Amino acid sequence: MQHVADHFELRPYGKGLLLARGPCPRCAAPLEIPVVLTTVRLLSWRAPARTDPFEVPMACNCNEDHDHRPAGVSEGCGAFWLLGVPAELA
Ligand SMILES: [Zn+2]
Ligand SMILES: [Zn+2]
Repeated sequence: MQHVADHFELRPYGKGLLLARGPCPRCAAPLEIPVVLTTVRLLSWRAPARTDPFEVPMACNCNEDHDHRPAGVSEGCGAFWLLGVPAELA
């Protein structure tokens, strides 16, 4: 996994949701990926003392055709990465 949070913009997107917008780190497709904050909180409970941004796993969900799309993946290019969510947004 690589950290590419720098390229993503996070903004509130309804109750309990953030919307992450940015380019896929692998195929550069513009992505909009909802981040469910309840998942973020569950992750944070495992490390209650941390003050760092939360990190949530994201996957490319582009609609492009990809020659190298992994078998069994119906969307995206197969890229996975971690997105940091600032504590004030979570
Ligand atoms: Zn793509
Ligand atoms: Zn991609």
